[in-house]
Amino acid sequence: MATSDTYARTRRNSLTESLLGILGPMPKQSSGRPATDGEGRLLVDGELVESSSGERFENVNPATGEVVGQVADGSVADLERATEAARRIVDTHSWSADGPFRRHCLEQLADAMDRHIVTLREALVTELGSPVRLAAGVQVDPVPDKIRHIARLAESVTDTTEMPDDARGPVVQGRRIEREPLGVVGAITPWNIPLDIAMAKVAGALAAGNAVVLKPAPDTPWVPALVGRLAAEETDLPAGVLNIVNSSDHSLGARLTADPRVDAISFTGSTATGRKVMAAAAGEVKKVHLELGGKNPSIVLDDADLEQVVPLAAALGCFNTGQSCILPSRLLVPAARLSECVELAALGMESVTVGDPWDGGTFMGPLVSALHRDRVLAAVSEGLTEGGRAVVGGSEPGVGPGYFVRPTLVADAPEHGSLVQEEVFGPVVALQPYEDLDDAVRLANGTRYGLAAYVWSSDEQRAGAVASRIRAGMVGINGGLSTAADMPFGGVRHSGVGREWGTAGVEEFLELKSIAVTRFV
Ligand code: NAD
Repeated sequence: MATSDTYARTRRNSLTESLLGILGPMPKQSSGRPATDGEGRLLVDGELVESSSGERFENVNPATGEVVGQVADGSVADLERATEAARRIVDTHSWSADGPFRRHCLEQLADAMDRHIVTLREALVTELGSPVRLAAGVQVDPVPDKIRHIARLAESVTDTTEMPDDARGPVVQGRRIEREPLGVVGAITPWNIPLDIAMAKVAGALAAGNAVVLKPAPDTPWVPALVGRLAAEETDLPAGVLNIVNSSDHSLGARLTADPRVDAISFTGSTATGRKVMAAAAGEVKKVHLELGGKNPSIVLDDADLEQVVPLAAALGCFNTGQSCILPSRLLVPAARLSECVELAALGMESVTVGDPWDGGTFMGPLVSALHRDRVLAAVSEGLTEGGRAVVGGSEPGVGPGYFVRPTLVADAPEHGSLVQEEVFGPVVALQPYEDLDDAVRLANGTRYGLAAYVWSSDEQRAGAVASRIRAGMVGINGGLSTAADMPFGGVRHSGVGREWGTAGVEEFLELKSIAVTRFV
């Protein structure tokens, strides 16, 4: 017994080290404590301003529950002014015609972010509760380089394609395809990855020559407000090209969506809200780009090294406290080895270190808010009522004054029950046994979502064949997904429409115009 306890402890420690390694090293510069103030002003028509209503709302540190600052609470009038400014740019400015200038401005923004990377990172850790290693390795520090990649595309994405002449008798048509920006893009973002997601939209839309009104989620307002300050103070971006309106009022997103002056909406958030966005945009037959929820399967094939793979595959569901649309929240394992897999997955969940985001030994911080914590615990509770069995964790909150929950592994969740079918957006993984390969693919495709999927196997070709049968926008084989700036990011079915990042992510913000010139010969 003592030997097996010692073995389990050693395994847990080594798994914890592996997990922390995935987050990246502890950043060299870190204050080690929450930021006490941050940028809270709106960016409207090139000016950093307080709300025209004079109202502010509180920014809360989810690791402690303490209020850390006040932020300008954007009003309908602020949104109006921002939209009008963006419209003016689109209708009158040479911005959309000058690719090299757009590249220059985006590169300036990336450089400014690099100069203020510690401030950005510490704002994010403070308001989201993301562990500082995760903020440095994934959430914040890679973003400037991603923007530079998109900036380079600004010079060529609007190039015209000359087509061969179309000759019909005495008539010849010279033809070309021109690429034009959509106009004013309304960007609506969630709180879980507040910098990268906002910049996917802002950089993509600006590179293509659009103007942007960004409406971030109120749970993480400092990060977007700081981007606004850098844009205003450290770049040549013309006034009105980029507007950032934080607000505690979610209806501003709906207003932006329905506004006839806004040509397109790029939305990231829940599937429920995405549906409302799509419906509201229909009134103006507006182009809509949607990045929505996921219920992503992680399929461990029977030839995989279960002992190595299963604990890791389970624990990855706790990345960013389970608050990422692409995380594996369903673990599919061979039914013939179910009991072994339950134990291994439990070991993985138990190796997740939960606590202070500023501690280099923490893999998982709190959830973003008390409201979200209560939603996650209610979802687990419902899943257990439906027959699920909590192998690790459960529906009790985690320890601490902040909004902590415990890593939770649920076995025996019914195939059509809520924990298998619905996104929880917390560190909750449902285990699903499969009979054979066809059954694994059936279960993997057995939800309405189609964002990401993961396949683990010792045979890369076999895993690749499974990947091509999964209905998802992205698949990771034997590890995570590529979230690099040159790879398109997005989902299918209820997980969304369209792609971000990569050339495809910039082309989302362009319209094609076919020009034909008739000549009589
Ligand atoms: P949410 O849908 O509640 O809110 C997202 C944004 O929409 C916020 O800015 C909010 O103010 C705004 N909003 C609310 N109601 C609106 C309306 N009627 N019209 C227009 N805008 C409105 O989502 P959330 O809780 O902020 O974020 C979590 C969700 O985001 C999860 O479902 C997650 O899967 C999803 N997400 C998806 C991706 C992806 O790329 N697919 C990435 C990250 C998060």
